[in-house]
Amino acid sequence: IARSAEELLGGLNEQQAEAVQYDGPALLIAAGAGSGKTRVLTRRIAWLLSQTGAWPSQILAITFTNKAAAEMKERLTTLIGPVAQRMWVSTFHSACVRILRRDGERIGLKSGFSIYDTADSQRLVKIICTELNIDVKRYTPRSILARISDYKNGLIGWQERLKEYAPQFRPGVRGSQIGSFGDVEVLYACVYAEYQYRLSAANAVDFDDLIMRTVELLRTDPMVAEYYRRKFRYILVDEYQDTNHAQYVLVRELGGVDGGAAREPGARGAGRSGPAWITVVGDSDQSIYAFRGADIRNIQEFEKDFPNARTIMLEQNYRSTQTILNAANAVIALNPGRKPKKLWTALGDGSKIIGYAADNAQQEGAWIATEIARLAGEEGYRYSDIALMYRANAQSRSLEEALINAGIPYQLVGGTKFYERKEVKDAMAYLQAIANPDDDVNLRRIINVPKRGLGARAEAVLTMFAADHRTSAWSALEALDSIEGMPTRTANLLGQFRDLMTGLRAFARQNDGKPSEIVAEVLEKTGLLAELKKSTDPQDMTRVDNLSQLQSVAAEYEQNTPDATLNGFLETTALVADSDQLPDEGEDTGTVTLMTLHTAKGLEYPVVFLTGMEQGTFPHSRAMENESELEEERRLAYVGITRARQILYVTRAAVRAQWGQAAEMLPSQFLDDIPENLIEWKRRETGVDALRGGWRSGGFDDDEFGGFEEGYSSSSYGSRPRWGSAARKATSGSSYGSSSYGSSSYGGGYGSRGSK
Ligand code: ATP
Ligand code: MG
Repeated sequence: IARSAEELLGGLNEQQAEAVQYDGPALLIAAGAGSGKTRVLTRRIAWLLSQTGAWPSQILAITFTNKAAAEMKERLTTLIGPVAQRMWVSTFHSACVRILRRDGERIGLKSGFSIYDTADSQRLVKIICTELNIDVKRYTPRSILARISDYKNGLIGWQERLKEYAPQFRPGVRGSQIGSFGDVEVLYACVYAEYQYRLSAANAVDFDDLIMRTVELLRTDPMVAEYYRRKFRYILVDEYQDTNHAQYVLVRELGGVDGGAAREPGARGAGRSGPAWITVVGDSDQSIYAFRGADIRNIQEFEKDFPNARTIMLEQNYRSTQTILNAANAVIALNPGRKPKKLWTALGDGSKIIGYAADNAQQEGAWIATEIARLAGEEGYRYSDIALMYRANAQSRSLEEALINAGIPYQLVGGTKFYERKEVKDAMAYLQAIANPDDDVNLRRIINVPKRGLGARAEAVLTMFAADHRTSAWSALEALDSIEGMPTRTANLLGQFRDLMTGLRAFARQNDGKPSEIVAEVLEKTGLLAELKKSTDPQDMTRVDNLSQLQSVAAEYEQNTPDATLNGFLETTALVADSDQLPDEGEDTGTVTLMTLHTAKGLEYPVVFLTGMEQGTFPHSRAMENESELEEERRLAYVGITRARQILYVTRAAVRAQWGQAAEMLPSQFLDDIPENLIEWKRRETGVDALRGGWRSGGFDDDEFGGFEEGYSSSSYGSRPRWGSAARKATSGSSYGSSSYGSSSYGGGYGSRGSK
């Protein structure tokens, strides 16, 4: 479908249209939330293809999530037809997997390499720590991995760290370890080096490696670099404010921006040579992934990086009401050193932000549930128009309970993921070990799963042999007969395991195009399914269901993928993220959506509840003493507020369980930052606040919300304080009706309960 220029520019404002058509090597679209950045990026791709003669294969478009990639592809298919399917529209990680699958051999990655998820990586670090006599209570694998991740995101190699801190350490050589790690940097350097050694021996990479090693490939192999530089003539990146240093370098390497190959610049269209044309879009106020190495400077310094860059600002917001934008602007304005933005909307003021202060998290959830029922019942909203957002996953529990009590269907995005469940992970470990014999972490995971009498001793003998011969655990298994001093029983059992794996591998080779059959074979032959089936534990029934689900996932993958392979299947499952659980945009799922603020990036909903607006919850307690982290929380608040299209709710609880204890929570400073006249409080003060003498330091001025009854002590928030009359007064006369309080779902109402 070739589209006319008018069609592609239809409905766009002047700046948007200019950005779509811009004809030059470097373009930055910098603009606030909801101004159409993602929309413009999509249209620009369609424009390049149908108006400038670019080929689909010349375009690399990067989105922040798989979900966003799928959506963009779908839009493009509507705009320009099925050729869009041939384009690289993906996350950085998926693009890198593709590159490494093709050319990874050149940096020592054999085809079929494994991609370790966080749990796998932590297992490996733990194994290493044990061998190096590191106290994992003091230095948790998690914290060590976080540091390793920082190195990788910054493209700092293990060689570099080792040279500086532990030049005598030899990765992969037993006995070369350092006795004590006086300096923690020495510890990090050694674990990093050993970790990379093991990954490489296991023919595996972790998530951060996908980027770092692709950069390594492009930097060390001119042929490969040249191939991609010729291939990708246009690179477009959404959410550029959240790229890290490694991704930044990757874009430059892929695009040949740093001079890569000497080709004549200037020629246009399909045959154009010279560096790729780069388009990045983003909003420095929405940079919220610093903890994963995102570097806000990438976007701030784009004009410096590309001296010939054109910057286009979009100022009209098409998503939210003016009230919502004013609130968002007021919060973000407090961040120092940012360029002020003019964001306006033609959508009008809309309704006020609705505030609610609950006594505790349960009550917060209950009020929200009542409110959702009202929105659905009286205001004509669908459940799928409504999203509940929170700072941390742990907050979802009280909200879920309230929704369940109220009979409101919901979908939780995030939490324990399918692929993290033990039984699923076990089955996947078999598949990984089948695809990649050298994958020690996965092989060791399944050596005694299901139980086959192979204990830690047997595993130790095997890994010792492997280490001594600098080979993998699988090779050790193959050389079983030459391992000395092994009890006959152990040797027999290990032999059976080896034969099992050999058989499965042969089956997988013959059925490579049918991952679902390989899954079935694994579940059957390993006894994984049989073990669960004979159990009487109801939990195990769910596990059986999950395994059958896994087989369905594989079957689905097969149907959707013309050249399906086991490796391909493993890839798609390795890169699954929280956001992939989100329903398709516009789809009426009949459920309310619950997710963290981080996951909500880029999305929009007619109604948004920002919950847990308390100091220590949001902003997060960690951020409260650190100015730069507080700025990041402010950006997160800005992201949250700007997800709302029509109605924004802000709710808080005066008491919330933290570390298993009830803690009194002060209102979030972000509530103070929103101008008073924008919020209509349905309930402003709680019983707990009254004891503290008002919820704002200046006391509170709204008569309607005063007058809490006395007669409870501060230690009694297990039993509920009496606030019934005040709250009833506060809500009566409004459309909220007092009937929602004191209804049975509240257990008889608070008013009658608290007095002793
Ligand atoms: P974010 O910063 O949250 O990622 P964004 O800048 O990427 O937001 P989009 O998601 O592209 O913004 O657009 C926000 C909303 O405005 C979408 O619903 C989009 O369809 C709509 N929109 C964008 N431009 C226009 C336009 N010119 N006319 C009508 N609607 C538009
Ligand atoms: Mg966007």
